[in-house]
Amino acid sequence: MNYSRRDFISHLSFGLGSLATLPGLTMYRNIESFLSESGYTELPDDQKLGVALVGLGRYASGQLAPALQETKVCRLAGIVTGTPRKEKEWARKYDISETNIYNYDNYDQIAENEDIDIIYVVLPNSMHAEYTIRAAEAGKHVISEKPMATSVQDCQRMIDACRAAGRKLSIGYRLHFEPHNRELMRLGRNEVLGPVRKMSGAHSFPLNDPSAWRLDKELAGGGPLMDVGIYVIQASIYTLGKLPTSVRAWDETKDPEQFPEVEGTIRWELYFPEGVVLHGSSSYEDSGNNFRMEATDGWAELSPAYSYSGIEGESSNGPIRFPQVNQQALQMDDFARCILEDEPSIVPGEMGKRDMIIMEAIYESAQKGRKVDLVFEDGFIDPFNT
Ligand code: NAD
Repeated sequence: MNYSRRDFISHLSFGLGSLATLPGLTMYRNIESFLSESGYTELPDDQKLGVALVGLGRYASGQLAPALQETKVCRLAGIVTGTPRKEKEWARKYDISETNIYNYDNYDQIAENEDIDIIYVVLPNSMHAEYTIRAAEAGKHVISEKPMATSVQDCQRMIDACRAAGRKLSIGYRLHFEPHNRELMRLGRNEVLGPVRKMSGAHSFPLNDPSAWRLDKELAGGGPLMDVGIYVIQASIYTLGKLPTSVRAWDETKDPEQFPEVEGTIRWELYFPEGVVLHGSSSYEDSGNNFRMEATDGWAELSPAYSYSGIEGESSNGPIRFPQVNQQALQMDDFARCILEDEPSIVPGEMGKRDMIIMEAIYESAQKGRKVDLVFEDGFIDPFNT
């Protein structure tokens, strides 16, 4: 009998004894259980879900491929690249079979490849939509990097395509799997320090390469807000557990000549119910990496707040210190687990679309010089918020 890996996986979907201890939706509700449960069982290699990375730039090569050497539920099975030199390098380095290497012309043929279950789109922002939709049409589950796309419309097209294909879609929001950030969620949402009244955060780095695609509006969609400011927006919503109702923003680019297409620096205020405010900023002309929340009976802050490692914090109750984890490995394993157990991702396409609605409103406010109201059709926060 030809019992393929795919059959095996579909049989595994229910009653996953060995995976029952994976950090999942319910187990993620507090940080203690997250940590105690994260030493979960590793699947044998031939049962792990296969991931193909699309776009082998800095993030894919510096973070995702190394993380996929540590994952326990998925593995690096394939690559999609436009650079023949990288095909050889990656095949050798990661032992990728020739049949699992694609380029942008034969990408759609991945539909016939049973080794590949998940496509991870790590291309410049405006390309996420096309490559996600084609992945769904090829019958694959998809992770799209942040920002999900460069317009709300494209986000919707991605969600629709995955839904029509019956495939799962998630966004590369790695900080939802990071213990210090999860502690912020616990402190904020559970009102451990009293109700949150005010939040502030900055995420900035100097970008001095005029040829970077990040400065090209067509490819990037926007400037630092879309690239790294998005993390500040995310932190405010996962700390408070509520959606903002309006926004006011200011383009504060210091050197407009250096940033002809996208903002160099932007500052915004997100207004939440009951008078809670987030003061956010993001820049390619500055450095910054922090988040702070003030509640009625105390405060908590992370600095750095959004890095791949080294995140730490303080609160009025004492230091916030947890062991470092591989955020990307946990993020990808949790998505693989969601596929196997047919559970919703905690960082789905709907969350990426929600953030795009906010970023479009921030740009609109900065451009029009007035407050803009936020309207969310589905009011999506995340599955914790029940
Ligand atoms: P990068 O420039 O290093 O890599 C981009 C890749 O896309 C390269 O391999 C490049 O060859 C390829 N590409 C294909 N068509 C291209 C085109 N027309 N123009 C430019 N490149 C093209 O970028 P990166 O830093 O790896 O970012 C890729 C994506 O990952 C972005 O969406 C970014 O926001 C996201 N990212 C996420 C994180 C995170 O922490 N989650 C961190 C870094 C980047």
